[in-house]
Amino acid sequence: MRHVAIVGSGPAGYYTAEALQKADDIAIDVIDRLPVPYGLIRTGVAPDHQSIKAVSRRYEGVALTDNVRFVGHVSVGTDVSIDELTSLYDAVVLATGAPHDRPLDIPGASLPGVIGSAAFVGWYNGHPDFAKLDPSLDAPGVVVVGNGNVALDVARILAKTPEEFAGSDIVSHARAALSDSAVREIHILGRRGPHQIAMTPKELGELGHLERASPRVDPADLPDEGDDAMLEPGMRKSVTHLRSFAANPVAKPVTIEFDFFAMPVRIEGDGRVERVIVERTTLDADLRSHGTGETYAIDAGLVISCIGYQTPPIPGVPYEHGRGRFASDEGRVLSGLYAVGWARRGPSGTIGTNKPDGARIAEMVLEDIGRGAGKAGRAGLDALLASRDIVPVTFRDWRKIEAAEIAAALDGNPREKFTSVEAMLAAIRR
Ligand code: NAP
Repeated sequence: MRHVAIVGSGPAGYYTAEALQKADDIAIDVIDRLPVPYGLIRTGVAPDHQSIKAVSRRYEGVALTDNVRFVGHVSVGTDVSIDELTSLYDAVVLATGAPHDRPLDIPGASLPGVIGSAAFVGWYNGHPDFAKLDPSLDAPGVVVVGNGNVALDVARILAKTPEEFAGSDIVSHARAALSDSAVREIHILGRRGPHQIAMTPKELGELGHLERASPRVDPADLPDEGDDAMLEPGMRKSVTHLRSFAANPVAKPVTIEFDFFAMPVRIEGDGRVERVIVERTTLDADLRSHGTGETYAIDAGLVISCIGYQTPPIPGVPYEHGRGRFASDEGRVLSGLYAVGWARRGPSGTIGTNKPDGARIAEMVLEDIGRGAGKAGRAGLDALLASRDIVPVTFRDWRKIEAAEIAAALDGNPREKFTSVEAMLAAIRR
C-alpha cells in the first residue's frame, strides 16, 4: 500500500487527490486545519458566484471514494509536524494555497481601516479567522488597490444591494453590514493602465449590470483603440468593457471609479484612515510604472489592498520569500515532500488551472514512491493524533455541518454558513 497525505482541502488538494486515487493500492488523507473542506471554494470565491462554487460537488465525489479520507480540524505545524507526516506517509503534498495578503508597504498602511483582501473576502465568506473583522463602512469613500479579479470581487460586493445577494451564500453578518453601508464612491486603483489589467471579461462585464452602482473610466486613460488589436482575445474583451464604461457613464447612487496610472503612496488619518495620497504614474518601455511626482488625495474610510497573496512559510520547508511560495523544483520540495497549486506556483490562474497542476504532481508522486516503502500511513496518523487527544473531523461529520448550514439558509439561499469553529463542532455533536 502507498500512503499519501495532502495538506489542504481546496481545489489544488482535491484535484491532486482525484488524480492519485485512480492508482492501485493507494490511501490518500486530505488534511485541513478547518473542520470544513474546499478551502478557496468555500471562503475565497465570491458568494454571488455560485456557478464557480458548484465545483465542490466534484470534490465531494472524490472525498466519498474508498481510498480518500478527509481529516479535518487538524493543523499541520501545530497538531502534527511536517517531519512526523513525512515519516508516516510515502509522500506529503502541500496544497495550502496562499491565504495571506501581500503587504501594502506604504506609510499609513497600519492605520485602522486598512485591510487586505484575504481579510475582507474571508469576512463576507464567513471564514472563522475573519468573521469578527467589522470593516468600516461608515464613510462614502473606499479605495480598492489593485487591478486583478479580486479587486473586482471586492468592489462588486461593496456595491451590491441586499436584493442582489439573493441566491448567494454571503453570510448574514456581511449582508447586514453591507445593507447599512454608507459607501458611495469606490475607487479601484491601478498603478498601470487599461492594457495592463489582470481582470477577466466576464467579471469586468458584471460591473455594467449592477442595480445601484455604475463603473466610470476616464476616456483620457484609454490607449488608442487601434492598439487593442495586439491584445490577446480575453484582454481585448476586457478592454472593450472599459471602453464601454468610458463611453456610457450612467448616473447611479454608487460609482465605481477606475483610477488608472495611480499608485497609492501614503495613507493619512487621525487614528483611522481618512484619505489616500495617490501619485500619478507613467509607464516605461518595459511597461513598468514610475511615479511622476504629481499627487492627489482620495477621501476614504476604508482601504482594501487586493495586490496578491502569499503562502505562509512552514518551519523547515524551503521557501521563496520574494514570491511568497514554497521553493520547489516543479513541485518537488524535498525528498517525499511536494507542493501544488498556489503553494507551488504563487497566486495565479483560475480554479481550473489546479486540475492539470494536480495531475502533474500526482504523476510525479507515483513515479517517485513506486510501490511504497511500507510506512504506517493513516493508521500511524490516527495513533499519533489519539496520543495527543486530537479527534479529527471526518467527511461524515462535515456532511452534518453542511446539512445544518443548508437547513439554516434564509430566503432561498443555498446555505447559511457557520462562522466559528466552535459552531461547526457543535453542529457535529447535535
Ligand atoms: P492578481 O491577478 O495578481 O492582481 C494583482 C493586482 O495588484 C495587479 O493589478 C497588480 O498590478 C497589483 N499590484 C501588485 N502589487 C501592487 C502594489 N504594490 N501597488 C499597487 N498595485 C499592486 O491578483 P488577484 O486579483 O489577487 O487574483 C489572484 C488570482 O485569483 C488571479 O489569478 C485571479 O484571476 C484569480 N481570481 C479569479 C476570479 C474569477 O475568475 N472570478 C476571482 C478572483 C480571483 P501590476 O500588474 O502592476 O503588478
